[in-house]
Amino acid sequence: MIIKKEQEQILNYLEDASNLKGGKAESVFIPENEEEVVEIVRECSAKKLPLTISAGGTGVVGGRIPFGGAVLSTERLNKVIEINDRGKYAILQAGVVIDDFLKELSERCLFYPPFPTERSAFIGGNVATNASGEYSFKFGCTRRYVRRIKVVLSSGVVVEIRRGEVIARHGFLRIPSTDIEFKIPDYRMPDIMKNSAGYYSSADMDLIDLFIGSEGTLGIITEVEVNVIEQLPDIFFCAVFFESSQDTFSIVRELKAKKDILDLLCLEYFDSNSLYYLKEFYPRVPDAAEGCILVAARMSSDGSLDMWDELLSKYNPVDNWFGDSEKHKEELYGFRHKLPEIVNDIIRKNNRPKISTDIAVPEAKFWQMNDFYCERLSSSGLKHVIFGHIGECHLHVNILPENEEELERAKELYFEFAGKGIALGGTVSGEHGIGKRKHHFLKMMYGEEGIKEMGRIKNAIDRNCILGIGNIFTKE
Ligand SMILES: Cc1cc2nc3c(=O)[nH]c(=O)nc-3n(C[C@H](O)[C@H](O)[C@H](O)COP(=O)(O)OP(=O)(O)OC[C@H]3O[C@@H](n4cnc5c(N)ncnc54)[C@H](O)[C@@H]3O)c2cc1C
Repeated sequence: MIIKKEQEQILNYLEDASNLKGGKAESVFIPENEEEVVEIVRECSAKKLPLTISAGGTGVVGGRIPFGGAVLSTERLNKVIEINDRGKYAILQAGVVIDDFLKELSERCLFYPPFPTERSAFIGGNVATNASGEYSFKFGCTRRYVRRIKVVLSSGVVVEIRRGEVIARHGFLRIPSTDIEFKIPDYRMPDIMKNSAGYYSSADMDLIDLFIGSEGTLGIITEVEVNVIEQLPDIFFCAVFFESSQDTFSIVRELKAKKDILDLLCLEYFDSNSLYYLKEFYPRVPDAAEGCILVAARMSSDGSLDMWDELLSKYNPVDNWFGDSEKHKEELYGFRHKLPEIVNDIIRKNNRPKISTDIAVPEAKFWQMNDFYCERLSSSGLKHVIFGHIGECHLHVNILPENEEELERAKELYFEFAGKGIALGGTVSGEHGIGKRKHHFLKMMYGEEGIKEMGRIKNAIDRNCILGIGNIFTKE
């Protein structure tokens, strides 16, 4: 095991992609195997020393940032234990980097459907946040593909949880081989495609679902078994630009209705402000464009391309950028990923935090939510962009305040958006989680009592309350 104590050696573990400042830790433990993980948690439990689990550090809500205590980094638990071509599953240690995993799968003509967007993340980080990815419009999030996990609890007990083996009974769940039993919360998950807000809860829930998305607050995931599928057939990509947002929304409606016929994997959206900022880097963005969608679809032999052409001629876009090679794909996804980079640069220049929403709502309420965003943002006069996973009813609103007064108004707007999203049956976090940044929204979603119910589970499982302090729950 490596132990780092020199401050300059541990600086890297005090940050992630959230830009949250003030992280501090007295040491970083880097175990090489499960026995060492057990040793570390036992030591921290005995001393009641907070322990924060660190993976790829790509989280955007400060989840892996410690505010005291020690850090356990899973970076050396990085073995792909097995890829089973016949059974279509893979067993990985928690610290396997997603990019490495995808490459190994590709050599065997296999694919991991959650296809997480940020490939330097670890599989353990993805499970702990229930991450989604480029094709979650078709395949859904990480949760759906996790069939077994191994978790080290803060007592040092190692638990193996296989999907389907431990199901809630009469409102209670028990962790096998332990005396831990707890009541499942009364609140229920919203009926939407993506949700990473707080602990999972449903009447007949599976124990594995509690740990998925628990943001390092319940145990250290050391091993993960996931389903994989055969490599995808050829895919085409297309960015389509429209003269009006109404035309953009009309085609989105039709594409959602024809999702299966067209075999769509991804349906993303950019508003006119997004295109304005992107044009500086992509001068080909048409001047007249007021909205854009980016799609990926399987190229099937039964005429999906013809159907696509028909659809485009019906909606008469001002331009479209079509691609069917890996190079084209990279260019188009480069276009997609450029926007958050541009926004982050603006924010840095303005020296104000980014106000960035992660709200997802049910399909039936999506257009109501979208109208609400547009009305409130245009009357606010605040600089902003709206973009993201329109296929999954999960748009990101980024507000770019230029001074303190604008920052305050941007925060108020975020509260309004969260309230509206919840009222429409949605979630305050579609994919990023709560971490150390979004507690107040979680409280809006599940109420004081819902947070207490989660707290009772946390206390039952992590009895010394040392894991992931500050994540999901406030410190007090
Ligand atoms: C450019 C960019 C694009 C992104 N796009 C997306 C996107 O499209 N969809 C999406 O969902 N996210 C996205 N993210 C966010 C991020 O990639 C995910 O949240 C990811 O799952 C974090 O994984 P990580 O390995 O980096 O974890 P970290 O950031 O290191 O940790 C995340 C959380 O998981 C906990 N944790 C980590 N490992 C374990 C473990 N083994 N056991 C228990 N708890 C653990 C940590 O304590 C922390 O709370 C993006 C991030 C960036 C920077």
